[in-house]
Amino acid sequence: MQVSLFLDSKVVSVGSPLTGIVGITLKEPASIDDISVRFRGVSVTARTEINGQGQVTQEVEQHTHVDIVTSLFDQPRGTILEPGEQILLFAFKVPVFSECTCLALQRRSTRACQHSAETADLGRTGLPPTFYANDEMYIDYRVIATVNRPGIFRFKKSASCIITVIPAMVGPASENSGDNVTEYKNVVLSAKCDKLPEEYFVPGALPKVSGMKKIFSLSLKHTYVHVPLKAEMVLYNNCEASLGEQIPLGLYISIEVDDVSRIIGILTIKLRSIKIVLESTASGYVWQDQVEGRGKTVILLQQDDLDVPLTPENGEDHVPRFRIDDKVLKSIELGKDIVPDFDIISLNHRHKIGAVIGLSFNDGDSRILGISHAIIINSGIYYDLDTHMLLPKLYQTAD
Ligand SMILES: [Zn+2]
Repeated sequence: MQVSLFLDSKVVSVGSPLTGIVGITLKEPASIDDISVRFRGVSVTARTEINGQGQVTQEVEQHTHVDIVTSLFDQPRGTILEPGEQILLFAFKVPVFSECTCLALQRRSTRACQHSAETADLGRTGLPPTFYANDEMYIDYRVIATVNRPGIFRFKKSASCIITVIPAMVGPASENSGDNVTEYKNVVLSAKCDKLPEEYFVPGALPKVSGMKKIFSLSLKHTYVHVPLKAEMVLYNNCEASLGEQIPLGLYISIEVDDVSRIIGILTIKLRSIKIVLESTASGYVWQDQVEGRGKTVILLQQDDLDVPLTPENGEDHVPRFRIDDKVLKSIELGKDIVPDFDIISLNHRHKIGAVIGLSFNDGDSRILGISHAIIINSGIYYDLDTHMLLPKLYQTAD
C-alpha cells in the first residue's frame, strides 16, 4: 500500500481553504478501518524559569494552534478495498485564530496547552506564521494523511506535508495615521578637494582637516576637508510594510554646511553602491539567556559599481540635500517568503531595515555609511474585530 498526499498550495493564508488529495494505491486487496487527514500546527519554545531558591531551569513549551482531523472514509471499519488507486479530496479552512488560549491569557504557570472555550472571547491570538529559528524555537504546520488498518500488527500508513501559514493582523478597525518616522545618523567623512583658499574656511563651510593631512596639504595642490553628513531614512506608513508590497522607504543625505554654495565647484558627490537589508530577529528564552540575533539578514537589494552623480535638492534652509532612493530603487518588494512579525509566549519575531550607502567625493574612493531602523512587517491581511471580516490591509492615508 502506498499513501500519497498532494496539496493545491503549500502556502496558505488564514481564512483560506487548504485543499488537496490523498491518494492510496493498493496492489492487493486490503481491509481499511479509516482514512483520515489532519491539519496540525504547533509551536515549540523554551523559557527560563527561576525558582524560589534562585535555581534556573529551562522549560520547553509546546502549544497547539490548530488541530483538525477529518475522516475521508465513509465505509464501515474493516471494509476491503480492491487493488487500484483511490483518490480522495479534502478541504480545511485555515482558522484566523489560534485555538491555544494560554497565549491570550499569558498563562505561564501551567505546562499543558489550554484550549478553554470560556476564555475564547477574552482576546484571541491570531494564528502565528510558520517559523523556524532552531530546534527549540519553531512553529510548524503540517497536513498528515493516515490510513488505519485493523489488527494490532498492521501499522498505519501515513504521508505528511509541511505548510507555510500566512497570518493576519488582528485588531479593531483603525484609520491608518500615515505617519512617517525618520531615523538620522551623523557621519563625518573626509574628502580631497582642489586647493582651497584660506578665505573659504569660515563658519558654515566645510571644515579643514587638521593634523597630518593638513600639513601634507600645505605643500600640495589639494586641500583635505571634513564632510559632515546627515543620513536620513524615512519610513512612511508608520513604519509598517506588508508582504508582497513595496517597502515604504526614503533615503537622503544632507551635507551640513550653511548654504549649497559652500559645496558647488568644491565637492562632487557620486553614489557608488547601495545595499538594502532586512534583519529578522527571533527573541525568546533558551537556557539562561534571552536569545537575540537568532535571526537572519536578507539582502533585498544590492547594487555595486554605481556611478550616479548626485545633485542637491535645495532644502528650505539651503542645506544641500540629496535623495538617494529614487536613483536606484524604483521598488523593492517584500518577498512572500519573509515571516512577518509575531508575538507568542516566549517568542517574538521582529524586523529592522538597514541601508548601506557608498559615496565618493571628487571621484575618490567609495566611503560607506549605514543606517537602520525597526520596521513592522505584516502579512497584508487584516482581520477586523469590529466586523469579523478578513480584509486586505488598507493603505489610505488621512486627508
Ligand atoms: Zn497553549
